[in-house]
Parts: sequence; C-alpha cells; structure tokens
Amino acid sequence: MVEGQPVEGFEFKCPSGFSAVFRKMKLAEQVKAAKNKNKPQNNFARNLLTACWLSTSDAGPYDFDTESVPPWDDLLAGDRFYLLLKLSNTSGNETPSYRARCPHCSKRKPYDININPDDPDSHFVFRKLEPEVFDHIKERGNRFDGELLDGRRIVYKLPTGTTENKVSKVDEASQPVAFLRDVLLEVEGLEHIHPKAIMQLDVDEVEHVQDMIDERNCGVDTTVELDCVNCMEEFDIDVPLSVIFEPGRRTRSRQQKRRAEKRKKRSSQAGA
Ligand SMILES: [Zn+2]
Repeated sequence: MVEGQPVEGFEFKCPSGFSAVFRKMKLAEQVKAAKNKNKPQNNFARNLLTACWLSTSDAGPYDFDTESVPPWDDLLAGDRFYLLLKLSNTSGNETPSYRARCPHCSKRKPYDININPDDPDSHFVFRKLEPEVFDHIKERGNRFDGELLDGRRIVYKLPTGTTENKVSKVDEASQPVAFLRDVLLEVEGLEHIHPKAIMQLDVDEVEHVQDMIDERNCGVDTTVELDCVNCMEEFDIDVPLSVIFEPGRRTRSRQQKRRAEKRKKRSSQAGA
C-alpha cells in the first residue's frame, strides 16, 4: 500500500447477518492461499481474514466486540466459508476452473465454476439463517437441544470454524468422530465427551446429528450441478474449498458472457 492512500473496502454480509468490511487480497496472500489450498482449513483461513479485515459493521447473532478483529474460528462454518468465497471473488477470482469427471461417460473436463454466491448465475446456493435461529443464537448462544436416536438428550452446536479446523486435521475415516466430538456439547449420562464414548455411538447417529444441524444451519451449498460437455448428461459435484483459491481467470467465459447478455436483454425488456 502506498502510504496515505486510502484502502478500498468491500462490505460482505454473511448468511447469518454478520457483516464486515474487507480489502482485496494482496498478490502474496493469493499465492500463499493457493499454495496452502490442500490444507485450507488450518490457520490459513484465520490469517487471511485477519489480514484483509478492515472493520465490522454488524455482529449479527454473535456477541463479538465490533471494535476488534472477530474470532474467525467462532463464526458459523457457513459464514467463514462465505467470507473466503467473497474475498477470493472480490480479489478477481471470478470463475476458477475445476476438472470434474462425468460419472456417465468418465470424461474429465474443466468447468468454470461461478463462485460468487450473490450472483444470480452462481453455481452455489446461498442459504440465510432463519430469524428464529438468529434470535436463538443471540439470546442463548450457539447451543441447541436435541435427542439422539437412542433417546438420550443432547446439547449440540452448529458447526463453526473450529469444527472445520478439527475435522480437517484427521484422516477421512476419523472425520465423523472429530465432527461429533466438536458439535456435541452435552450428552445425557456422559460426564465428558471423550472419543471412546463417541466410538460407542451407533453409526447412524452421525447422520441423525447432521440432519438436526442441516435443519437449522445457514451457509453456501457447494454441491453444483453440471452438464457434461462431452455426453450432455447432468451430474453433481461437491466443489472443494481448494478450488476457490486456484489462480483466477481474469476474463469471463463465453458461456458467462452469453448469460449476462441474456439477463441484460430480459431486464431491458422488463423495463420497456
Ligand atoms: Zn459425460
């Protein structure tokens, strides 16, 4: 930054209602993010958000002090992910390319993924926090009552940055255990929620807890539907966070330009 030069800020309003102003990423940060993309959930998210944060305009459902750097790992996972998306997007990474394999014809081809969750043409679906869940977190914190399939009462939380950090540190097979260990705050009859106790739960409790969370959660759905460029069949892929920090394409794809033209035509017709 040239000294004395004002920094341009961009306000991002998260799915929960939390809003903050960020500057664009520096080239060095983009390079670091791209290099760390295989371990994206480690401190990289916290460091990047801290570096680019300028101010908090609305704490949303959180009881954060708006004057200091927000505790990024305490944000709902959906909010933190949204901020990383917007940061990459605002910094010029509009449509990273992702090589996906079509399950119908087995051809692996590159697809341009529109990662801007606020764009009507986005591949991602944005889901806002419901007002009653917002009020619940504001009044009672991120703690919800529920019940396991075996009938025991539990208190659980919606996944946060911390949950993602913990899950990303273990191998894939151990991820459900790491997940439950972090989101389950109390289980009836258990003094401590230690891994051994979690291991004794039935396998289908994982999905059951996940369903309870999904019912209340907000965020950005990263499952996208693509049309195979080879066989034209439709298929779903789950876009990993690593794709979002692929060095960006600076020009819009032909498909995007066509979509934008169509939209312009529609709005001018609607206005006429
Ligand atoms: Zn295909």
